[in-house]
Amino acid sequence: MDKEEFRAWGYKMVDWIADYQDRITEYPVLSQVKPGDIKAQIPHSPPADPESMEEIWQDVEQVILPGITHWQNPRFFAYFQANTSYPSMLAEMLSSGLGAQCMIWATSPAAAELEERMMNWLIELSGLPADWEGVIQPTGSDSTLVALLSAREKVTDFHINQAGFNGVSRMRVYATAETHSSIEKAAKIAGIGRENCLKIPTDSAGGMLPMALQEQIQADRAAGFIPLAVTVTIGTTGRHAIDPLEPIAEVCEQENVWLHVDGAHAGTALLLPELQHYLKGIEKADSYYFNPHKWMFTHFDCSAYFVKDPQTLIKTFSILPEYLKTQADQEVNNYRDWGIPLGRRFRALKLWFVMRRFGSKQLREKIRSHLALTAELVREIEAHPQFEMLNEPAFNLICFRLKPKGLSSVVDINKLNEQFMHALNHEGQIFLSHTLIEGQYALRLSIGQTYLSQDILDESWAHIQSTAQELLTAHF
Ligand SMILES: *Cc1c(COP(=O)(O)O)cnc(C)c1O
Repeated sequence: MDKEEFRAWGYKMVDWIADYQDRITEYPVLSQVKPGDIKAQIPHSPPADPESMEEIWQDVEQVILPGITHWQNPRFFAYFQANTSYPSMLAEMLSSGLGAQCMIWATSPAAAELEERMMNWLIELSGLPADWEGVIQPTGSDSTLVALLSAREKVTDFHINQAGFNGVSRMRVYATAETHSSIEKAAKIAGIGRENCLKIPTDSAGGMLPMALQEQIQADRAAGFIPLAVTVTIGTTGRHAIDPLEPIAEVCEQENVWLHVDGAHAGTALLLPELQHYLKGIEKADSYYFNPHKWMFTHFDCSAYFVKDPQTLIKTFSILPEYLKTQADQEVNNYRDWGIPLGRRFRALKLWFVMRRFGSKQLREKIRSHLALTAELVREIEAHPQFEMLNEPAFNLICFRLKPKGLSSVVDINKLNEQFMHALNHEGQIFLSHTLIEGQYALRLSIGQTYLSQDILDESWAHIQSTAQELLTAHF
């Protein structure tokens, strides 16, 4: 491909992407293909001769698009959002145009220094302690793994990095049944073992009980384990439960255990000063992260990871072969030492574009608008005779279910709601997901898509009600 062809297709692609956003609600939100449908249309071997962009593009429209779930459709309410925005998209285009690999300061000083500033901007906007430092990790799962590895090295004085587990007592990590599965995955990878990831009891809203945590830590220490780390979640994935940070931070301080705070999704809401009380006690924690790639209008992947003590982080991950040494090493941040991969994309660029093009005021207003839409829909659900709320949203996640009068068996209600969710998603008009809350099947609606408006939410709610009515008429 020559430059002129690239230019022509580049313009065409930008036009296509802009038009796509206009047409996006015409596609089924959830891809309707069956397993194997796409693979069957792709040859087993690569072509020997070049193919034209026209041919490739035709297949994009005919083969690829039907297999896309449209995450940027404002009727996408499932899981948590993976929002984009136009500024973020432009930054991603520029990043791929520059094609810079930003493993160390010298391989693109702008990437390293912009990243340092962007992390400081997020520290300021989130009200985190001003002397903390941050780094972009690919995903939340990476942030949590990095935290656990850092905790492991700190508690053993970097023994395991050097000599392996040889002679080290078994370690324990504490979470709750609501905590994201990435903590268990991190415990597997970090050599701590899944069975040493303990689930501390919670209150009825799903928040960890600090006293139960302290008792477990003390019992484990008495039994010869090393209590390694506690994960506090602000906004769990299932139902946005909130672990009480401050009392847990006090337990961790008394027991000298690493405290990792997971704000993956709800961390974006914590950009609002009026919600930052949920971070009270954060100065006692060791690490905190949230994913701008979920709700903060910034393309996947971008997890903002913050630590109190960057030296522990760097000592855990640094490796300095001769060929990577540079003269500037003493004066700059070489982010290859702040996480697992050596190679790094220029991710700070999209945060810079987003935070500048929105400005912190508009960014906060947009998040507030999502919270207002959530509050209004909660009122509608509570007022509706056939529906029931199953959580009390502090942020933007609604868990609810259909509960017709006269149906009282848990099994029947769960079955009905499972059918209900499949009926809603099957039509492709909206997409939501589910969870189990204390054995009850709950539908999850996350109200945070970049392009969501009051009208679209009203239409979606009308669709939910009419689908429920059809289902109930068929049943009773
Ligand atoms: C989404 C989520 C994660 C995982 O984030 P990834 O970036 O997908 O790895 C972890 N914790 C919570 C609470 C989440 O909602």
